[in-house]
This record gives sequence, C-alpha cells and structure tokens, in this order.
Amino acid sequence: MTDSQNKTNLLSMDRDELGGYFESLGEKPFRANQLFKWIYQSFETDFEQMNNLSKVLRTRLAEVACVHFPRLEQVQIAKDGTRKWLMRLHDGNGIEVVLIPEEDRATLCISSQVGCSLNCTFCATARQGFNRNLDAGEIVGQVWQAWHQLEKERKECQNANGKAVQTYQQPGKDPRPITNIVLMGMGEPLLNYNQVTKAIRILLDDLAFGLSRRRITLSTAGVVPGMQRLSKELPVSLAVSLHATDDTLRNTLVPLNKKYPIDVLLQACRDYVDGRARERITFEYLMLDGINDSDAQALELAKLLKNVPAKVNLIPFNPVENVPYKRSGPRRVNAFREILMQNGIITVTRKTRGDDIDAACGQLVGRVDDRTKRSARLKTQSGVGVNINVV
Ligand code: SAH
Repeated sequence: MTDSQNKTNLLSMDRDELGGYFESLGEKPFRANQLFKWIYQSFETDFEQMNNLSKVLRTRLAEVACVHFPRLEQVQIAKDGTRKWLMRLHDGNGIEVVLIPEEDRATLCISSQVGCSLNCTFCATARQGFNRNLDAGEIVGQVWQAWHQLEKERKECQNANGKAVQTYQQPGKDPRPITNIVLMGMGEPLLNYNQVTKAIRILLDDLAFGLSRRRITLSTAGVVPGMQRLSKELPVSLAVSLHATDDTLRNTLVPLNKKYPIDVLLQACRDYVDGRARERITFEYLMLDGINDSDAQALELAKLLKNVPAKVNLIPFNPVENVPYKRSGPRRVNAFREILMQNGIITVTRKTRGDDIDAACGQLVGRVDDRTKRSARLKTQSGVGVNINVV
C-alpha cells in the first residue's frame, strides 16, 4: 500500500476507497473518477500532468501518493506469439505474467501470490513454497503494465507508418489489447481473497479496464469457503483444478483435498452457479500418463459432473524437473475426451502454448527467488536439486 517513502500507492485502491482517500485530503470524492481515468485510460502516472486537478492538489498528491506498479524487467516472445514478462516487485521478488494471443482474443495470465502454499505435487510453483500475498496494486499492476506496453507498441507501429515490425497482432476487431484475464499464474487466489477481489473490482470498473465479469476467470484448487463468498460478492467465471476423480488420488495430487474433499467441492461448484442460467464451472483436468487418464476414470469423471453445469478443460501436463509424472499421449487424451463428450460433457483439450519459453501452465516459477529455501530442503531430503533459478 505504501512505498519506501511511505507514499500511498493509488493503484492499490478501488474507486470507493480512492474517493474516501480524497475526502481525507479535504477533496471531493469524485476526484477518484478523474484519477482513475488518468491512471487506467491515459496511463499517466505523473500527477503534474493531470491538468484537470488544481495545482495545489497536484503538489499535495506528489508529496503523499504515488502510482507504483511492478517494473518490467524482461520479455520473452515464443514462436507462437505467447509472451512472458518478468516483472520485479518493490521488495525484489519477481513474478511472471503471460499473454496468450489467439485469433479473437488475448488472454493475460496473472499471479496472486509470490509462490504458493498448497504443495500440489505436479506444480513448479509449489517447489518454491509460499513467500507472500500480492496486494491489489501488485495484481492490478501486472495488467496495467502489460496493457500499457501493448498500447505503446501499437502506437509506435502506427507512428512508424507500418514500417516497424509489429510483434503483436490485435485480437479480432476488439480495440483492446487484452480481452480476458485469468488468475492462473502463481498462487491460490482464494487464499488472498481481499486483495484479489479488490483487484478484480478495479479490472471491472468502467473507468479503469472495463472488463466484463465473464471475461475474468479465477482458478482455484478448491478453497470452498472462498468459493462460497465469491459467489455472493463477485461471481466472476470460476475454474476448478480437479485433476482426479477419487479422494485418495486427489489427496496426493492436490493435498488441499484433505480439507475439502471432492463431494464438498462439487457441492460448492453447484452452489456457485446456482440461479445463474447458462453459466458453467470450468474443470481443469491435468492429463497424467497412467495416473488419472484411464477410460474408467473418464467415465467416473462424467458421472461426478452429471449434475454440475460444467465444461472440462483437459490440460497436457507440462514437465517439471524432478516431478515423476509424464504427459499422457495424444491418443489417450482423445479417447478420454471422447468418453466425456459421449456422456454429454463439453470438453476441450488445452493447446500448449509458449513451451519454448517455459510459459506454460505450472511452469511459472522462473527467476523467482526461493525465499523459503524449500529447494535447499528438498535437495537435502532427496539428494537432487530442483529447478529453481535464483536471480
Ligand atoms: N491455485 C490455482 C491457480 C494456479 S494453478 C489452482 O490450483 O487452480 C493454474 C493451473 O495450472 C491449475 O489448473 C494447475 O493445476 C495447472 N498446473 C499446475 N502445474 C501444471 C503443470 N506442470 N502442467 C500443466 N498444468 C499445471
């Protein structure tokens, strides 16, 4: 919320909060509207340039407030156009943000925590342990930076009269460089509920990014109380990482299952969309060779989801060093998908994107410092190192 000089970061406030902040400065709350437009629509962060604010207010803001976002440190662009930014937070922690351009949309995958506490056995992020929650400004800041960067590129391209090489194609006819946001990067968003929902409110705000509720997807490993609260307060699209059809296997893959087993989780899913026709939960299902990909398990999955408004996303496992699982072969994935489809379940197989830059699901760990020293502990326990790059 405050930077090293103790200034308040305006990026960490939703519009109501910012209105209250202006009141505390003796100003009218509607100043928040003006500030939102400057920050999120003009990408202006220098108060001096905000010419519809009085000189006195501009000077005051420069003394007590700032607009602080993660610093862009590096970008990698994959052959398929997927790009990964390394962003540096004020305390030196790094996070990775991935843009997945498709013909008619561009999805930005953002993080909610540095590291993760859930310890899913197939996930690279789990290997670094939990470091800390991101605050709303750091979550919104990822979008702000990516959006700003893409806008800048587009303008440069226009200025250069089409001579510059455009590295990024605008999705379809949509004027926005980013059309969808998924909270599927590092961390468990529902274990950082307050900051994540505040960030989402800013993403939805018409004076900020103006995204619609359905174009924001929060992915959870199944934090049931968080799902219940979100359903009432801010029902964005929900994705649930299921990965198994029985509790014994799911306990191993997603240890959180011991707290919220499959039947409890599925009830929470039904409740989440209850009363909202046409809405579905997306179930993410990693395809792990010989572990969860048999015909019997496909049938079991179809049975489990019979009474849940669902669609299934089959995810090819992306290898993580020293993780014993293997990706299921394409024929197995197709057979699994066929069984689900025959049983009336909408199923898609997720394309792997950005493999060549390690930007795929579960691989967002990159140059993030391992502050918890979990890698060292694992090394001692197993005698082998894990793949964590420390900057
Ligand atoms: N904690 C949240 C969001 C982060 S994980 C959750 O569990 O949903 C985002 C998605 O990436 C999840 O579906 C997760 O299961 C998947 N994932 C993690 N490791 C992966 C890997 N190695 N290969 C493919 N997908 C992976």
